[in-house]
Amino acid sequence: MDGLMQPRPLTIAHILDRAERLFAHKHVVTAGSERLTYAEVAGHTRRLATVLDSLGVPPGARVATFASNSRRHLELYLGVPATKRVLHSINIRLSAEHLEYIVNHAEDDVVFVDRALLPRLWASVDRLPRVRHWVVLPDGTTTPIPADPRILDYDELISGAAPFEGAFEDAFTLADENLASGLCYTSGTTGPPKGVLYSHRSTVLHCLGTLAAGLIGIGESDVVLPIVPMFHANAWGLPYGAMMAGAALVLPGASAEPAHLLRLMETERVTVAGAVPTVWTSLAPELRAHDLSATRFLLGGGSAVPPALSETYRAAIGVPITHSWGMTEISPVGVIGGTRTQHRDATPEEQVAVRAAQGQPLPLVNVRIVDVETGRELPRDGHAVGELQVAGPWVAGGYFRVDSGGSFTADGWLRTGDLATIDAEGYLRLVDRIKDLIKSGGEWISSVELETAIASHPDVVEVAVIARPDPRWMERPVAYVALREGGAATAEELLAHITPMVAKWWLPDEFVFLATLPKTGTGKLSKIALRDSARIA
Ligand code: ADP
Repeated sequence: MDGLMQPRPLTIAHILDRAERLFAHKHVVTAGSERLTYAEVAGHTRRLATVLDSLGVPPGARVATFASNSRRHLELYLGVPATKRVLHSINIRLSAEHLEYIVNHAEDDVVFVDRALLPRLWASVDRLPRVRHWVVLPDGTTTPIPADPRILDYDELISGAAPFEGAFEDAFTLADENLASGLCYTSGTTGPPKGVLYSHRSTVLHCLGTLAAGLIGIGESDVVLPIVPMFHANAWGLPYGAMMAGAALVLPGASAEPAHLLRLMETERVTVAGAVPTVWTSLAPELRAHDLSATRFLLGGGSAVPPALSETYRAAIGVPITHSWGMTEISPVGVIGGTRTQHRDATPEEQVAVRAAQGQPLPLVNVRIVDVETGRELPRDGHAVGELQVAGPWVAGGYFRVDSGGSFTADGWLRTGDLATIDAEGYLRLVDRIKDLIKSGGEWISSVELETAIASHPDVVEVAVIARPDPRWMERPVAYVALREGGAATAEELLAHITPMVAKWWLPDEFVFLATLPKTGTGKLSKIALRDSARIA
């Protein structure tokens, strides 16, 4: 017997309608200089809906964005899916080769591009034959714009358009909530990038899942700053989450300068912010110079948050960095860390150890670890290490237009390529990415554990450990380290520091000191770049 509840589809259009109806007076601030209300943003989005029609963008077509976090980008985040097109947010730091690959693979019909970023994408115009329109988003720069009839101006289009009238949810009723709403490509560290195609259903459920109290728990009184780019896995759901809850939004614009971000946090009284650990590292030295008393929750993920970094924040502003684990394939948030009531009486050291874990799965997300060789599920005892697999309503079930072959199990779970333990309380701890493990003399060394140990030295700002081929042991660990300004730690000192923390045979063969470590397109430390330079050296 079926229940007798309304089978109304979940839709992103509802988020837009709701923000306009209930939170019209709340603000979206871009780069500290532009302040619009949700009513104004929704007004532009209404015009964007008719602009997309007049450009002849059909339902289901991919509409690409190549843009930093801004109010105009937010309008596209809302207007494109609410009118049944698919928002394809492109990582602005990809190589030309990958850019061309994904724009062609996605068959993007239109691209909306920040003026400052136009030259980068336009350089590929002859190899992007399917893109019919190039719409430039004004960003305060005066970057030259080529004279070409395909290039249009966003603000001119919006001001010349009639607004769409009525509720989006009523006008764009979904026959099926599984309709595609967004597309993000993974960074393609192994093989070409793969597209993850989100649905209205998965996006709305992810948003609700992360909003739940006790998790990120965004509320109406929050001021949310997604430092994580809107092209990096949906800015972790923060823009939609903030709008659904009616929180104010602060979007940093093109600059990721620590001084700019800290100023925004201080002057806008930001309560919730999310960024990858390399960004939190860059802000750390200046924390005490700013009034961050409004801040209540900092989210860190994308790579492991070193406990020492989180503790620096806790000591300086009273708020640790809450660990979160996820993937583009998981919309992206799957797991959230932090302590729970059972840890109240734990010692400070024990609490640091709990906070270092990636955390517990969100509601509706299932995780398990399996033996890499046999595929057998392993016990949740905090010791057994296996490949992490995930299932849930906002987890990918396949990739866009490619054979998804080895990425999913026979029973439909996503194989993450990460190695983890799960303890009896359901806390997940990432041991390493399978491909980053170091195989020494037939035994595995976790690069993450070594990095955590090295990062606990006060002079160390950034560290990445990679494998170097070794004739005797097969592979041996080499540590790449950047020291803080004025830091003077030597290789001997770092070795002495970590010797009590790890097995003797784990100790790196060499420490290489660099001014700063290379980063990937999403701001994580790039082990691929280090491996390449190690090969050349
Ligand atoms: P990519 O890093 O390939 O660009 P994603 O942003 O989707 O793509 O990254 C997902 C991967 O990032 C995960 O599989 C995991 O290895 C790593 N990761 C994400 N969050 C964390 C975390 N909190 N701790 C450690 N690793 C993490």
